[in-house]
Amino acid sequence: MLQNIRVVLVNTSHPGNIGGAARAMKNMGLSRLVLVDPQDFPSHEAVARASGASDILETAQVVGTLEEALVGCTLVLGTSARDRRLPWPLIDPRECGTMACADAGAGAEVALVFGREYAGLTNEELQRCHFHVHIPSDPAFSSLNLAAAVQVLSYEVRMAWLAAEGQRPKVVKEEVGSERSSQPSTTDEMELFYGHLNATLVEIGFLDPENPRHLMSRLRRLFGRSAVSRTEMNILRGILTETQKAARGLAYKRKSAPEEK
Ligand code: SAH
Repeated sequence: MLQNIRVVLVNTSHPGNIGGAARAMKNMGLSRLVLVDPQDFPSHEAVARASGASDILETAQVVGTLEEALVGCTLVLGTSARDRRLPWPLIDPRECGTMACADAGAGAEVALVFGREYAGLTNEELQRCHFHVHIPSDPAFSSLNLAAAVQVLSYEVRMAWLAAEGQRPKVVKEEVGSERSSQPSTTDEMELFYGHLNATLVEIGFLDPENPRHLMSRLRRLFGRSAVSRTEMNILRGILTETQKAARGLAYKRKSAPEEK
């Protein structure tokens, strides 16, 4: 179950932090590390800081973008050291541990996303996350070292996992409605949907690309909260396709109809 939880480090600058994160993960039984565009990796410093956890570094997946790191995930939890302008569903590390274990235990892929040492995650990256996790540090000095933040969340995941292990019934019942259609959409499917939604809203004149006014951010927040299933996603994509067809039909009619005097 813990293998369904990946730790994603975005654009890390210090290899020592990558090693420290790997060690923190291995201590807590997590094994899947994904590095998005790391500035210095592989490196001796990472191996040194990982102590005995260099296997996590060896099997770490290195990708170019956050989108690639999140492929297949249905729950994305993004960490943030401070408040952002657009309020987002916010949870604490304990809730993060419980939520991650509940979903991973049901077979879903979960990502815990951590930002750059100096700048954290961008607003755009944070909007790729279903929930934001804030470690309730002293507001006067709120930013933890990256590897320390990974340690806190990995620990909470382990505590939730241990609690769930203790409660698990001996015979696992067949999950109700576990067929593919009722499964939640993955983040990559959601990204395709957001692209389609954006294009459609521009086409029907609801979204002005010159003046977007946080519309897509707000819609991302809405759909992110909804745990859209695959069946629901097909319905939404169908609605968008038909909306585009209707809008194009109207545009064509308007063009070809003679001007009324
Ligand atoms: N100056 C940056 C701080 C980055 S700290 C900022 O203001 O966002 C590096 C990373 O460690 C953060 O992106 C986050 O992933 C994690 N982190 C540090 N402190 C945290 C906190 N209090 N709660 C949650 N994550 C934290």
